[in-house]
Amino acid sequence: MQINENFSLKQYNTFGIDVSTRYFIEYQTEKELHDLLAGGLPAQPVFSLGAGSNLLFTHDYEGVMLHSQIKDIEPVEEHNDCVLVRAGAGVVWDDFVAYCVEKGWGGVENLSLIPGTVGASPVQNIGAYGVEAKDVVCKVDGVSFGSNSPVSFTNADCKFGYRDSAFKHLDEKIIVTYVNFRLSKKPEFKLEYGTIKEELKKYETINLQTIRRAIISIRESKLPDPVVMGNAGSFFKNPVVSKMQFEQLATQYPTIPHYTVSEQEVKIPAAWLIEQSGWKGKSCGNVGVHDKQPLVLINKGNATGDEVVKLSNQIRSSVEAKFNIKIYPEVIFL
Ligand SMILES: Cc1cc2nc3c(=O)[nH]c(=O)nc-3n(C[C@H](O)[C@H](O)[C@H](O)COP(=O)(O)OP(=O)(O)OC[C@H]3O[C@@H](n4cnc5c(N)ncnc54)[C@H](O)[C@@H]3O)c2cc1C
Repeated sequence: MQINENFSLKQYNTFGIDVSTRYFIEYQTEKELHDLLAGGLPAQPVFSLGAGSNLLFTHDYEGVMLHSQIKDIEPVEEHNDCVLVRAGAGVVWDDFVAYCVEKGWGGVENLSLIPGTVGASPVQNIGAYGVEAKDVVCKVDGVSFGSNSPVSFTNADCKFGYRDSAFKHLDEKIIVTYVNFRLSKKPEFKLEYGTIKEELKKYETINLQTIRRAIISIRESKLPDPVVMGNAGSFFKNPVVSKMQFEQLATQYPTIPHYTVSEQEVKIPAAWLIEQSGWKGKSCGNVGVHDKQPLVLINKGNATGDEVVKLSNQIRSSVEAKFNIKIYPEVIFL
């Protein structure tokens, strides 16, 4: 176990915001985590930090950042058509995807190259190209922070929603230690989303490997690499509006993109709303809106969290003024 005091988080958030935490503690095993909690932590509050790829730090953190280094992956059950695999919270998400694809186990290939850790995947219910964590997670193991006791959540217990789960709403803080996934040995490919089919034309066969390569190639062409340009992926969630409001908007903007959520509700891409409000490619000092994907806010140098918040508030105000639609951050402010 490693305990660091007054530790810089610059390398631990993909926005690259230069803040520090009072304590940064890495643990290698579930037992180390239990021992740490049993001994009492040196400060409060406490936050489970993954790779910091969905966070915006607005100031130094006065408490303890816990960072899982539980990195083992193992198949725990094998059946004719599926396999259950358990992965440690500290495993890099894309390493887990690469492992599954290599083994020929389907289910997560469409989630290739999403930054972050396995531990955050059920918390965030990560999703891309028609697949979400909720489709493959069968059990989440963790430790209840208050009682230092082991807990397990079934898929239903996780109450998955759009980039949302029970873990974000429980009164009791849960530290995820392992995530158990159900993967298919006879995968059905999901190719209907985005330009996957188009991209796959470059390959002779369609299999898990080529789907993974196609997704990586699409993502690399559209999204800025956080190592080169600080960002946290989609900054805002796509808003859901009533069908009535959508129909009114459609008379004014006949080409408005949309997805039907239910008989009464329609989802509108926040990227379109932001672009129509004139923000695509715009800069404000050290921060800006990405020129290819307006849903992504970027750190153009030494941005502070407050500068990003200010820009995001300006964008939210203009979208609301133009469309009477409120958009909300997907990114967690700390
Ligand atoms: C370029 C880019 C592209 C992205 N594309 C996508 C995308 O396509 N789809 C998508 O869904 N997301 C996307 N994201 C967002 C991000 O990758 C996900 O939200 C990811 O799951 C965050 O993982 P993390 O380990 O960095 O978590 P962090 O950002 O560190 O934390 C996120 C949340 O998870 C919690 N958490 C982390 N680890 C644990 C743990 N062990 N126990 C309990 N809670 C924990 C944190 O407390 C926090 O609430 C993108 C981000 C970037 C930078």
